[in-house]
Amino acid sequence: MAAEFKAPRGTFDVLPDQMPARRRLLETAARIFARAGYRGIITPDFEDTALFERGVGSSTDIVRKEMFTFEDKGERSLTLRPEGTAPICRAYVEHGMQKLPQPVKLSYSGPFFRHERPQAGRYRQFHQIGAEAIGSDSPLADVDVISLLGDLIEELGVPGAELRLGSLGSIEARKMYLEELKSHLRARSGELSDEVAERIEINPLRAFDSDHQGTKAVIADAPLLLDQLDEADAEHFAEVQQLLGAASIEFTIDSTLVRGLDYYTRTIFSFVCDRLGAQSEIGGGGRYDGLIGQLGGPDTPAVGWAAGIERILLALDEPVEPAGRDLFIAVAGESERRRAVALATELRRSGLSVEIDLAGRSMKGQLRQADRIGASHTLVFDDGGAVLRDMDRREQRRVEPSEVLGLLRPESA
Ligand code: AMP
Repeated sequence: MAAEFKAPRGTFDVLPDQMPARRRLLETAARIFARAGYRGIITPDFEDTALFERGVGSSTDIVRKEMFTFEDKGERSLTLRPEGTAPICRAYVEHGMQKLPQPVKLSYSGPFFRHERPQAGRYRQFHQIGAEAIGSDSPLADVDVISLLGDLIEELGVPGAELRLGSLGSIEARKMYLEELKSHLRARSGELSDEVAERIEINPLRAFDSDHQGTKAVIADAPLLLDQLDEADAEHFAEVQQLLGAASIEFTIDSTLVRGLDYYTRTIFSFVCDRLGAQSEIGGGGRYDGLIGQLGGPDTPAVGWAAGIERILLALDEPVEPAGRDLFIAVAGESERRRAVALATELRRSGLSVEIDLAGRSMKGQLRQADRIGASHTLVFDDGGAVLRDMDRREQRRVEPSEVLGLLRPESA
């Protein structure tokens, strides 16, 4: 029967077979965050629309056309969060975190929403994992957060990943450069894509992100921000590179790197993977020294990143074996059911993973099911008591049910 309802366009279900890989990713990340002192934070899945308009920037694609915005019953405009940094900065200010020892190091994961054209690796609801170090302008903080994502990629074994590094300078310092870039683009606006041409005045950096042939040709001889960093920004950038070297983190400098959000200053970075198609970025981020001030908080330097969970899983593309079970309990007849359910409950409470037949299968069917779920042992209740079968060794012996825990977990006996 054809399904009447399907998941909305650009969304997907995560099915049980896909959970082990996802869980491994989240557990690896949790370990990496914990050992570097990044503590978890959860913010709401929706926020006031104005937070993103002000935080992400009204010239960005995200704010201009990708937000899921709705009015609540009190006629307030709310938006399903398209990204995590602005909400975390909102929480930082709202909870007075500037009074805590700085920087405040935070990590998060959860769903995000952007009304983009769906394709492989690009969805309308996706999941990100991310980290932020708020309250330090030291290049050490840049390297601290970058190393977290580097370690995650390394420890998960993502093949073919590469770190690209750039700098956007500080907002003040890049004003002059932006004027120069605008006049370069204006002079050749006929060669640009309509989108880029329309946005020369409000978001000229966007041109660096375009895959339009004409735009690429114009960009090929555009002035580069990296060549014009002011002294303080150049020093910061040089120090980040030195420290990455000291931490043995490989990178290449990408003088055309830009990001799709307005708030970045100084360091920006991106981890790309050659196994992914057009959507080749696993994750990226940078410094956003002006954002908290812009949201009405005290001027606070900060740096962070977000990575797409689905992108990482696509790049890994290898099944993670689901964990097997310790025990499957099979019953020969009705009368053994009670003993089976009592034992299953007790063993589960002792920490064993135990399954029991819920489908009224024949004995043969139950043993096949035990095999299917990868049970290391099967206990068969019959008239005479119970038989424990070691499924790998294909050996069996009569046992008392009370012995099972000790036999399967000798250390807990
Ligand atoms: P951004 O928040 O735009 O800096 O993106 C950070 C990371 O989130 C990207 O590198 C992707 O891995 C992931 N990402 C962003 N947008 C999407 C999307 N629409 N679908 C899936 N992953 C996404």
